[in-house]
Amino acid sequence: MSKIIMKTPIVEMDGDEMTRVLWQWIKDILINPFVDLKTEYYDLGLPERDKTDDQVTVDSANATLKYGVAVKCATITPNNQRVEEYNLKKMYKRPNGTIRAMLDGTVFRAPILVDGITPYIPTWKKPIVIARHAYGDIYKAVDGKAGIGKAELVFTDKDGNKQTQVIHDFKGDGVVCAMHNTDKSIESFARACFNYALDQKLPLWFSTEDTISKVYDGNFKRIFAEVYEKDYKKAFEDAGIEYMYTLIDDVVARIVRSEGGIVWACKNYDGDVMSDMVATAYGSLAMMTSVLVSPQGIYEYEAAHGTVTRHYYKYIKGEQTSTNPVATIFAWSGALRKRGELDGLKDLVDFANNLEKATVETIESGFMTGDLVSIFKKEGVTPVKLNSKEFLSKIAENLQKAM
Ligand code: NAP
Ligand code: MG
Repeated sequence: MSKIIMKTPIVEMDGDEMTRVLWQWIKDILINPFVDLKTEYYDLGLPERDKTDDQVTVDSANATLKYGVAVKCATITPNNQRVEEYNLKKMYKRPNGTIRAMLDGTVFRAPILVDGITPYIPTWKKPIVIARHAYGDIYKAVDGKAGIGKAELVFTDKDGNKQTQVIHDFKGDGVVCAMHNTDKSIESFARACFNYALDQKLPLWFSTEDTISKVYDGNFKRIFAEVYEKDYKKAFEDAGIEYMYTLIDDVVARIVRSEGGIVWACKNYDGDVMSDMVATAYGSLAMMTSVLVSPQGIYEYEAAHGTVTRHYYKYIKGEQTSTNPVATIFAWSGALRKRGELDGLKDLVDFANNLEKATVETIESGFMTGDLVSIFKKEGVTPVKLNSKEFLSKIAENLQKAM
């Protein structure tokens, strides 16, 4: 069998710990035997980030801007303990933060549904995709301690005029926080959401808390409404899908009662929290994919989970682990499919679809990693726990049959 040809390279961002180990196995067992893989490789593993003073992260984001499609392995976000463990020169920023800021993207997280793994909310039959605004708010806030005295918010315009608002007159100790967002980023967020919903033919729900936060959240509501009216209303009507704006508490209630099949656009913090809730309710964080989409149509695919440190420490002691590679496989299939679509390579698109199908069918036929065994329930199928490599080989067998 001749290998499937690629035209443009995918930007490959390698990562850390257990997911770095899985990364290589996925390529060896599931991709390289079938595809003449073309990538531009960037090592975002922590040692290389330290060696290059994090320049490698910036370079990988620039390469993504150039080529349009990237796939990223999970990476360590350094904290004090990691600085010590890896003897780092400094505490580098989260790579995802750097990349998201450079791509000005929105993150869409979608669960991978498998027959046999029932969501904790049994009415959920279809995926709920969370679109998380990836810029600003508390993630780019300044905060600090306050004592007795007055905290003020001062805006100085370009001519030096000052606008001052009192935040609070403190009679004792307390804390303050000031955050921001930009109209440009909110508009990009809105466009990414409208484009994604149209692409997937799914309704879009957007929620904020604008009755409380009249100016701040009100600005999000207004920009979404304006962009929708001007550029997307007709396309949504033609596609037969709705755009709905409502309050965050209302949307939470509606989501729980829904059957899924919705894109839920969330502000940065709401998306952070709600995506973990939704992922858990669908069964496992290891079954959640994530894609960063920029308003220019640049895509970066990854798994939604971290580097699975606990499993890695076992692995380096020589133990076999049953770490779930599914979300990382779907990151690769997502990137390969998108590359195939952009380059007009039908074989590559078919391969990506077959890879996903083989992965899902492997689990549905009873072969899976340990995290899924306890939640898998399907009549006539007894789940078998495999280690990561055995599971990947089983998928490869099924993939071979489909090709
Ligand atoms: P994590 O790597 O997602 O793992 C937390 C726990 O969830 C694991 O110990 C494991 O539970 C379970 N789990 C997650 N993924 C799994 C998988 N694929 N297969 C089986 N079980 C899985 O989160 P963390 O331990 O909080 O973070 C570890 C490192 O990842 C940190 O350095 C953090 O900075 C980084 N991180 C990176 C990203 C990213 O790059 N996007 C995102 C989040 C975290 P059991 O131990 O019970 O088996
Ligand atoms: Mg989170």
